[in-house]
Amino acid sequence: MNNFTDVWSALDWDDISLRINSKTSRDVEQALSRNKISREDFMALISPAAQPYLEPMAQRAQQLTRQRFGNTVNFFAPLYLSNLCANECTYCGFSMSNKIKRKTLDEDEIRRECEALNALGFKHLLLVTGEHKGKVGMDYFRRHFPAIRSHFDSLMIEVQPLQQEEYAELKTLGLDGVLVYQETYHAPTYALHHLRGQKQDFFWRLETPDRLGRAGIDKIGLGALFGLSGNWRTDSYMVAEHLLYLQQTYWQSRYSVAFPRLRPCTGGIEPASLLEENQLVQLICAFRMLAPDVELSLSTRESPYFRDHVIPLAINTVSAGSKTQPGGYADDHPELEQFSPHDNRSPQHVANALTRAGLQPVWKDWDSFLGRVSQENVAGWQTSKLSGMQIP
Ligand code: SF4
Repeated sequence: MNNFTDVWSALDWDDISLRINSKTSRDVEQALSRNKISREDFMALISPAAQPYLEPMAQRAQQLTRQRFGNTVNFFAPLYLSNLCANECTYCGFSMSNKIKRKTLDEDEIRRECEALNALGFKHLLLVTGEHKGKVGMDYFRRHFPAIRSHFDSLMIEVQPLQQEEYAELKTLGLDGVLVYQETYHAPTYALHHLRGQKQDFFWRLETPDRLGRAGIDKIGLGALFGLSGNWRTDSYMVAEHLLYLQQTYWQSRYSVAFPRLRPCTGGIEPASLLEENQLVQLICAFRMLAPDVELSLSTRESPYFRDHVIPLAINTVSAGSKTQPGGYADDHPELEQFSPHDNRSPQHVANALTRAGLQPVWKDWDSFLGRVSQENVAGWQTSKLSGMQIP
């Protein structure tokens, strides 16, 4: 049976780093001149040589985003069900050895969270947990999924990697998508940051999207946690390889890519390398050029200023007003949180800012969430001005 492990094993981290760093401005200009970019073009676009080309990259990425998604931006909210975790990750406030108060929501508390999110306008939900299969595993999901799903139009999860059959079962209970970030594709760095628990198994995680594809899950989310490895460019290239492999192997599924950067948390580490804001813009634009149809997502880890300026370029899914703690919407429990979000504005405040930038926030339109944008939206955007968007 094929797995991404076979592809990953043939990729040499050091060689890829070298090839990216050796790209020239001529390579970047060639990449910018193509309608469809290759792997080598993608390397050029994320290379240091591309940094002076941010403006043309942003224009191209924006044009592709509007062509494919119109002016819509889909809103979703994360709902943290539990901060229990049986893993030790150096960068996370939920790590098992952290002396924080632990909480898992019961039926009544989940209902109150769902109602609070509905009242804020959300109909697309991402369920998040720590990784504790004993107390927040399949039995818990079976018990609570149907009631949660009844409050929302779509349901995604970001929980511990599961077996293929378990994903297939959750699909029958209303699961639409799964986010599973590899954190870093550099195995030695991965080992340094995952000290206890099942998450230490690099390959179990690496092959999770294969299990999702085989289970027929509709949407699969990928990403690396920038700041863990010393080389964001090579990790980004690995995400691109993973995406291209999955698109080819499980073509019935749709994909999303996110760009999380390390945020402060209880007991958390300092980033090994900084992905600066202008480099993050470069990366997002390069991904849009590589995969015009793929959903690109930006969370509240980023600042309001950055989000307001970058979402109009190439992002089509955002979270807003996020609470990273169980029970955070109905009541506030900052002492239970996983990390501190940077954009603390209300969902409506974020939506208003995007509307002023000419975008159309979407809370509940399922067709738009699937990327099937209406011709009316496309036409509406084409008559509006693309110029005037400033890159921070
Ligand atoms: Fe647990 Fe995930 Fe945090 Fe690691 S990153 S400690 S697995 S919640």
